[in-house]
Amino acid sequence: MLIETLIRKQLGLKAHTVTKVVETEEYMIIHIDRLGTRLLRCGLCRQRCRKVHSLGKPREWRDLSMRKLPLKLRYRPRRVACPRCGVRVEDFPWAEPWARVTTALSNAVAKLARELSWQGTARQYGLNWKSVATIMKRTVKYGLQNRTRPPVHVIGIDEVSRRKGQVYLTVVYDLERRVLLWVGDDRTEEAVRPFFTKEMGRRRCHTLRVVCMDMWAAYANLVKEHAPQAQILFDRFHIVKHLNEAVEEVRRSEMRRLSQKEKVPFKRSRWLLLKNPWNLSDDQKERLSTLVRWNTPIVRAYYLKEAFQLFWDYQQPKRAGDHLEKWMRSAMRSRLEPFKKFVRMLRGHLDGILSWTKHRVSNGAVEGMNNKIKSISHRSFGFRTAENFIAAIYHCCARLPLPIER
Ligand SMILES: [Zn+2]
Repeated sequence: MLIETLIRKQLGLKAHTVTKVVETEEYMIIHIDRLGTRLLRCGLCRQRCRKVHSLGKPREWRDLSMRKLPLKLRYRPRRVACPRCGVRVEDFPWAEPWARVTTALSNAVAKLARELSWQGTARQYGLNWKSVATIMKRTVKYGLQNRTRPPVHVIGIDEVSRRKGQVYLTVVYDLERRVLLWVGDDRTEEAVRPFFTKEMGRRRCHTLRVVCMDMWAAYANLVKEHAPQAQILFDRFHIVKHLNEAVEEVRRSEMRRLSQKEKVPFKRSRWLLLKNPWNLSDDQKERLSTLVRWNTPIVRAYYLKEAFQLFWDYQQPKRAGDHLEKWMRSAMRSRLEPFKKFVRMLRGHLDGILSWTKHRVSNGAVEGMNNKIKSISHRSFGFRTAENFIAAIYHCCARLPLPIER
């Protein structure tokens, strides 16, 4: 079989053909021409057009490599007179309208970019970083326009930090399908509103039943405004995080108070106090029990933390509520300022905390995806622009479809 025939078949050309293949030092150049008078399609609506309007300048598209030699397609595009759209550039079966690489190459790049950084992907395909960035942004745009959008019932709203906590993004997950729905470039009301007004719209907001989030006023305000029927549920993992911060604050202020000698048994006790007791080794349990005998504020903090955690196991809302109420009263009597602060926070958000017992969902379901986002940020040494970081997040977490290779 001639190489021309092979490549024509590989590219699936019907109204075009390969006229010759020229090998240079760096590339294998595939010359393509129109095949006889076969009808070309409109680049906008893909309808077959009878009339060719004019001939454009030659254009080139980078394609996958054959063995080690990168392929380039060269062709003079025709402008066709489409009865619906007017004069348009024809449709290319090998590439998206404005792309400078073939769909086969851009999809291969996109698949690799799910595993590697954009830099690494570029190196692998002999492209520069900018070309990969362009490919990624186009791929994500295509994916967002063509993804399926079934009704959404349970969502989780969370924040992720960019550049070591300097800048925050907001991510929204569908907790039932475990897929990313949306990314916003800040965590303010203004930045997150488009999720409700544009991404969801009024009709889709109506099907929301539960919204899981941190105790962050901007998010709660938006839910009350755009999906008033939805139950707000404050995320279990965030509440525990605040609780652990209270324990840590007590420990730190005790450490400041103690003398050098008194401090010794408390060195490296942070994880001992924060870990769940059943995860400790025998040795660690031993150390913990010594600590507990020694210092009363730390002991009180530790027991308060453990007692709070029972809340998650109650099946009946009434019992869970009673437990929480009792716990808050004893925490207020504990003379531990960080715990009093924690209780005041709980009091302000009680409804959204108690609804745990009924709904039992948390953003823990998508913890894996949050970790993936962190690793995207790390492997790229932090994206310089939010736009690129957001594109990478969508690409790795939103299960977007890739352009179809024809
Ligand atoms: Zn058309």
